Amino acid sequence: MRYYIETLGCPKNQVDSDKLGGLLEHRGYERAISVEGADLVVANTCAFIEAAREESIDTVLDLAQRRREGARLVVTGCLAERYADELATSLPEVDVVAGFGQEFAAVTPVRVRRSPRSDFDLLNLPRPAAEAPWAYLKIAEGCDRRCGFCAIPSFRGDQRSRTPEAVLEEARSLAAGGVRELVLVAQDLASWGIDRRRRRDGREAAEPLDDATDQPLVGLVEQLAREADRVRLLYLYPSSLTPRLIEAILATGVAYFDLSLQHVARAHLRRMRRWGDSDRFLERIDRIRSLEPTATFRSSFILGYPGETEDDHRALLAFLESAQLDWAGFFPFSPEEGTPAAIAPDQVDPALALERLREASETQDAITARRRDDLVGTRQVLLVDAPGVARSVHECPEIDGIVEVDRRREVGSMFEAEIVASRGVDVVAR
Ligand code: SF4
Repeated sequence: MRYYIETLGCPKNQVDSDKLGGLLEHRGYERAISVEGADLVVANTCAFIEAAREESIDTVLDLAQRRREGARLVVTGCLAERYADELATSLPEVDVVAGFGQEFAAVTPVRVRRSPRSDFDLLNLPRPAAEAPWAYLKIAEGCDRRCGFCAIPSFRGDQRSRTPEAVLEEARSLAAGGVRELVLVAQDLASWGIDRRRRRDGREAAEPLDDATDQPLVGLVEQLAREADRVRLLYLYPSSLTPRLIEAILATGVAYFDLSLQHVARAHLRRMRRWGDSDRFLERIDRIRSLEPTATFRSSFILGYPGETEDDHRALLAFLESAQLDWAGFFPFSPEEGTPAAIAPDQVDPALALERLREASETQDAITARRRDDLVGTRQVLLVDAPGVARSVHECPEIDGIVEVDRRREVGSMFEAEIVASRGVDVVAR
């Protein structure tokens, strides 16, 4: 029996797919290289925003058409978790709709499989060997924060951190399989371990961490840095970027900071139910640059969240110019059912949101191009991901640009080279 998994959405979903693949292989399935060759076709969906939901549905319909006769089609992931009943009734092509961690490998067709508790712990399942010399490592599931626009806690639940032992075991097994770069992911990465400590202490503190000095993630990063050549952290909530965590990240040699900012205007961030403001963000960025001038910064921003004024938008553009981030993603606000933002007054006209998004993207594109030009003439240690494609510490896999290298360089090798040219978001090494 062969399986095929199509993954949509974020890196966290990719890890879930890897783990589902590991489980299916443990059950005797083999991986198919195409939908057409599979007996079991799985769509691991995304429900983050409206556009992601549409893409997920389109993909399910496409897989339904392409699967061979008799192959079963399973829809899992965020869309299945959030809209299980609707999917089951509106997509007769689908054999099983399974929420997170719902067993489906050995079932006879069932319309909807969903229960408050998972049949198995997806986070701690083994996974097949990585195909690239880097891999996402998911260290927690769920989130204890309640940002005004985000529905994730409503269907992924509160944060559940994996034990350090489980994370280290997976890191070692990935490294043994040839992975040289670990990319740590979670909904709120810097709060890793806080929930475990809270459960141990029997405390019920709602606020995860902020300026606490004993941050569990610090020790984990130090341990993981001994297991792989590179450890990269994604999705850092800015208030949790403590001095000790900054030190620990810099000590790994990967001075890459993916800050989850979303906006910069103080009053607007409070409407979003988030921490911070432009000055605080710039202060943290400056502090990091004073310690490591070559540090790389990435962030993402929402345009058109309810109540966003022209002044708020101008503050964001001014911040982009001051911060000189290397990379940034911009997303139009999408009202998510069940979130405070969906019913907030002062909804912004979607056309205006798109106009603001275009303006912010244009501003940032010029900055990114300059930051890439600045790399020309520097020497970088490169990790070869695929023939002709490598990355330095300045590029995160799948999200940022790449470094073009000689195609004869062996995949998985690391070497130092000079950056000789830039081509938009990519650079060329000799
Ligand atoms: S921190 Fe991220 S996952 Fe958690 S509620 Fe906010 S946006 Fe959602």
